[in-house]
Amino acid sequence: GAPTTILDIADGTPLLVDGSAGQVIPHPAPEAIARATQAAPTITIARRIPVYANVGSLDEAQRAGDADGIGLLRSEFLFLQRATTPSEDEQAEQYAAILRTMGERPVIIRTLDIGADKPLPFLPMPPEPNPQLGVRGIRLCLQQPDLFRTQLRALLRASTAGTLKIMLPMVTCASEVAQSRAVLDALAVEMGVAAPPLGAMIEVPMAALAARELAEVCDFFSLGTNDLMQFLLAADRENAGVGALYAQEHPAVWSLIGQVIAAAHEAKIPVGVCGEWGAEGVKLARLVELGIDSASVAVPAVQRVRELFAA
Ligand code: PEP
Ligand code: MG
Repeated sequence: GAPTTILDIADGTPLLVDGSAGQVIPHPAPEAIARATQAAPTITIARRIPVYANVGSLDEAQRAGDADGIGLLRSEFLFLQRATTPSEDEQAEQYAAILRTMGERPVIIRTLDIGADKPLPFLPMPPEPNPQLGVRGIRLCLQQPDLFRTQLRALLRASTAGTLKIMLPMVTCASEVAQSRAVLDALAVEMGVAAPPLGAMIEVPMAALAARELAEVCDFFSLGTNDLMQFLLAADRENAGVGALYAQEHPAVWSLIGQVIAAAHEAKIPVGVCGEWGAEGVKLARLVELGIDSASVAVPAVQRVRELFAA
């Protein structure tokens, strides 16, 4: 959301970027730097909340430090910027390497979250007038069974290398999870391995509204606040022109999130957050108050969020 004057700042200028407040300060004073590195609201809690890392590659997983695990591996990294589909072998190798890096710590790998706005060069797809609402995420995978089955087989092969959970993106209704589970279970039987837990991102308003029904077919939930806010407020998450709308914390949004967490707990499944709200102190405090079980945040935020809980 920064104005274009940001381009006038000379290369090499020290900048203080406060993403939470939406500020960029060139040449910050030493006191401002000291304040920024210490600023952190404190949270007092009496239960343990694991802090996981969001990663998009093996390299990033290796930098996850003392995170309690990986709460979101965006598997798109294997598919973008290449001319052919990554083979089952190649995928299995990468997933296993990430699982081994994390040892016994859990790793949630999200199946391909791609759509017409992020086309795959090797996958011919007709142009869509409204790609954000089109064939993307789990919708695409269910329409491209070969692509989906290859990824699931690779995940099943890698599963013995660590503690794997599989997560589906852009889930709208329970039937999408049921269909995916049927494919996963059939492949697991065929391959003679146990199927890992299967969960859903809650990032489409309908999934949040129907959380009770969805919880019956899921082993866990993860709140994707980035997309959930975009779709609830009809405000593009990438468009600074509607940034103020996107950032709104209306009580109705909190009420919906509270219902999702309650629905998960009624069904005795855990619910984490892997959207950016998990790394924003005050919002995270609210999520904790509502009962969230874990937070997964970008690698550079892991330490800061751990300190919030320790404070
Ligand atoms: C989200 O939508 O909140 C999320 C974590 O997924 P992504 O940012 O990859 O869309
Ligand atoms: Mg998302």
